[in-house]
Amino acid sequence: MRLADATWTDADGVDTDLAVLPVGSTEQHGPHAPLGTDHITAHAVAAAGADAYSDGEVIVAPPITVGVSAEHRQFTGTLWVAPDTFRATVRDVVGSLASHGWDRVVVVNGHGGNTAALGEVCATITRQDDAYAVPFTWFDAVGDHSSDMGHAGPLETAFLRHTDPELIREDRVQAAAEDGADAWGKWVSHANLAADAAAFTDNGVVGDPRAGDADRGAALLDAATESLCALLAAVADRDTTAPLPHR
Ligand SMILES: [Zn+2]
Repeated sequence: MRLADATWTDADGVDTDLAVLPVGSTEQHGPHAPLGTDHITAHAVAAAGADAYSDGEVIVAPPITVGVSAEHRQFTGTLWVAPDTFRATVRDVVGSLASHGWDRVVVVNGHGGNTAALGEVCATITRQDDAYAVPFTWFDAVGDHSSDMGHAGPLETAFLRHTDPELIREDRVQAAAEDGADAWGKWVSHANLAADAAAFTDNGVVGDPRAGDADRGAALLDAATESLCALLAAVADRDTTAPLPHR
């Protein structure tokens, strides 16, 4: 059930404790892909995973559309919140889902910059709140494709060419590839010297968006959906009783 489309009386009739909460960002994705890429992809994976889950209903919460994206701040249109704000927002939204009985929540993430804060807040929720929360970043769960992630590169471009082709500016993809960077960051001795993407990519792109056609996008959505479905089954079955201290 898509919560944003349902009425409260519809929601009241759902018998489940499982929910997915998409989280993403509003940030530059090169000259060819939309600022909303990360929350659009997260929402698509969350909805597909909920549809594919066959052992019961899954609540699909509306996406959190602004995340931890200060690393893209120089690119016009990028929005960001502090990690504290992001953690607090996720915690409150999971808490409100749990108050309705949907207290096993998979947070479906579409933005790499959210990952650290999301892991921390899910652990805090599970330890301290009346809910169980687990983070799931879709592009880490697509098999061999994952190593090709980049930024506005092959994977995200492929994904949107499959799900929302009108959002990819095809006439800009060639230039996006030629002017982009090959790798994320400026690395010396396993340390990244760059705090912001603008320090190593002029147009915001990392990786080659030409390497992501719509067929690859379909394969990515299938792989992410399968991974999320398996995770939902494990979360549904999990004994969420907190482990006891030794003394
Ligand atoms: Zn992205």
